[in-house]
Amino acid sequence: NGSDTSPRACDVLVIGGGPAGSTAATLLARQGVSVIMLEKDPHPRFHIGESLLPCNMALLRDLGVLDKVRDIGVFKPGAEFVSDRGEGRLAFPFRHAISPRDTHAYQVRRSEFDEILFRNAQAHGVETLEGLRVTEARFAPRQPTHVVAQDEAGQTHTFTPRFVLDASGRDGFLARRFHTRHADKNNSTAAIFAHFRNVVRREADMEGYISIHLVDDGWFWMIPLRDNIMSVGFVGDKNAFSGQTGPKTDLFWKKVAESPSVAERLAPAEQLGELTTTGNYSYCADKTWGEGYYMIGDAFAFLDPVFSSGVLLAMKSAYRGARVAQAWLRNPAEGRKVARHEEQCTRAEMRRVAWLIYGINDPVQRELFLNPRNVLRMRDAIISLLAGDFVGRLRVQVPLLAFRAVLQTMRWKWAS
Ligand code: FAD
Repeated sequence: NGSDTSPRACDVLVIGGGPAGSTAATLLARQGVSVIMLEKDPHPRFHIGESLLPCNMALLRDLGVLDKVRDIGVFKPGAEFVSDRGEGRLAFPFRHAISPRDTHAYQVRRSEFDEILFRNAQAHGVETLEGLRVTEARFAPRQPTHVVAQDEAGQTHTFTPRFVLDASGRDGFLARRFHTRHADKNNSTAAIFAHFRNVVRREADMEGYISIHLVDDGWFWMIPLRDNIMSVGFVGDKNAFSGQTGPKTDLFWKKVAESPSVAERLAPAEQLGELTTTGNYSYCADKTWGEGYYMIGDAFAFLDPVFSSGVLLAMKSAYRGARVAQAWLRNPAEGRKVARHEEQCTRAEMRRVAWLIYGINDPVQRELFLNPRNVLRMRDAIISLLAGDFVGRLRVQVPLLAFRAVLQTMRWKWAS
């Protein structure tokens, strides 16, 4: 073990080279900012979260990688929700959305997708260092920031950036360090997942749809990938996991057995590799920023992935992080102002989709969600939300308000 002697200076240091880090790094480098991005796991590396949303397309186009993503992806024209409990089954084709401009997305192996974004950042002039894990960051007023990272040989490397973007994903490097991360009590869940070959796929005009199978205390995703591979996972709430003795992975097959629509599709399938679990995974940090840093993507907050919103939220928050960093480099007072504003926007955007996610296991909401009437374009507004439009345009938000009013009335009737 050893240490290098000369700290490296740069304008912005990005911790983590997932979608959030690579996006922010590319945007900054495009503006002539000197950026170093550190990634602990060399690309390509496995990551869960393979289904993108139509609103991702504009961002990928802007970054110049849309063609490459199309080449590795499975065309996704919509999302399908299925319930075996008599609540129904409904396809939500993105072409019926009120917005956005793009009416499809792609489903991708994240090892390939994340590498495309990472190499794109490199091509834009970002200095990327793989196999370097950030282990320490010291921020002090009127003193240079020190970030320390360790390589795979145990050698330490020190950096003195003018600003830090934390894009370390669920590791949440700064939020954990500052003890600002809190579990989301509305949505405390865990996931169990694996890749399978030969799962029964949807055909004809449903080809490429993501399927969400709603079961008791949770839901399954089925995401079609290339080469006849299907990503399949179960996400359960607290009830699903309570009383579970033995490995959590046993619950996967128990839940498959309880859901005829899932069991039927998995019957001819071959499992590839072990089932993996991710526990207690919804959380949010108290704040996105502090003196000299801003958190983006999962490093700040994570919402249950039932609507495949994670990569989009991460990339959008990267655009915000890049704006904050640029303002900070001009002048920290301006940086603080922009950081406050961007934090509010991120929180508002998450709230716009969180209410629907929190209710996903509520029988009343399921009933309405799977049988929405298109009065006032309520159904089309839900499709816009599923396409990733969390912006707050009136023509989407007004019908969503109507949907929520109907939902409240139904809940009230159900309770009385
Ligand atoms: P990440 O993609 O996690 O990237 C963070 C990077 O930082 C990693 O490469 C990591 O190695 C690196 N890193 C961490 N710590 C350090 C350190 N100390 N030093 C250096 N590098 C470090 N989203 C969707 O859009 N669609 C889905 O279908 C979907 N399904 C999901 C299913 C599950 C079960 C889960 C858990 C998530 C799912 N998501 C989905 C969410 C999505 O995966 C994330 O929101 C997205 O990856 C966030 O991107 P990010 O760049 O913030 O973090």
